[in-house]
Amino acid sequence: MSDPALKKKSRPPLLVANWKMHKTIAEAKQFVETLAPLLDKSQLVYLAVPFTALATIAADCKALPVSVGAQNMHDEAAGAFTGEVSAQMLKEAGASFVIVGHSERRRLFHEDNAFIARKVRRALIEGLRPILCIGETQEERDNNLTQNVLREQLTACLEGVLPEEMERLTLAYEPVWAIGTGKVATAKDVKAAHGFCRDLVAKKWGREVAAQLPLLYGGSVKPEGVQELIVLDDVDGFLVGGASLSPIAFSEIIKQSSKLVL
Ligand code: PEP
Repeated sequence: MSDPALKKKSRPPLLVANWKMHKTIAEAKQFVETLAPLLDKSQLVYLAVPFTALATIAADCKALPVSVGAQNMHDEAAGAFTGEVSAQMLKEAGASFVIVGHSERRRLFHEDNAFIARKVRRALIEGLRPILCIGETQEERDNNLTQNVLREQLTACLEGVLPEEMERLTLAYEPVWAIGTGKVATAKDVKAAHGFCRDLVAKKWGREVAAQLPLLYGGSVKPEGVQELIVLDDVDGFLVGGASLSPIAFSEIIKQSSKLVL
């Protein structure tokens, strides 16, 4: 990010655990019990838990510096959508945020940008903070299409979102080839992608919106790789899958992220 006005001093590190389809209620409770004494109040910690654990874990986290949210939702307010869960249901169960546009939803469940844009809109209407995931595949990167993909996903998924609504959004750059593969993007690649996204947000919604936007990296994040990335101006934290299943590894990621932010 070349523009010093968009630097991150005012954006505290945000660490999001995405448990995917892991952890029963009992296992989730055990995780929180282990994590709780390892936290202090200077970090923003989000747990994206399975639907079944949402209400219990939201209640267990009430007294902790931890927000609890969901990994998905439907875009309609209610209706004949067997097996789906609405934003209002998530809120009632204690969710404050929801992940939308995760590459596993795009790839395995054929979710497109238009559907994701409607989810973003619904989440904002119902008072949930959306965490929008965007990122290129290996093939797109090999064909020098990374910026095109990021531009297309960001623009399409945030169609019609107003600047004041952008204040409730978090963006996660998650290169598809890095998710669950053990391959972490290099600091150079992350810097370029995050700088590109923040510049794009500044152009579309203004510099103030861009300056406050939490911009996360996700893709095989482990405690030992955190320091190299968190020092980058446009990296405000991490969306963590595999390593967030262990409270010890996740707390280490939290600690490493907080230490180096000025
Ligand atoms: C994710 O689920 O968004 C993710 C980044 O997973 P992992 O950390 O396992 O790559």
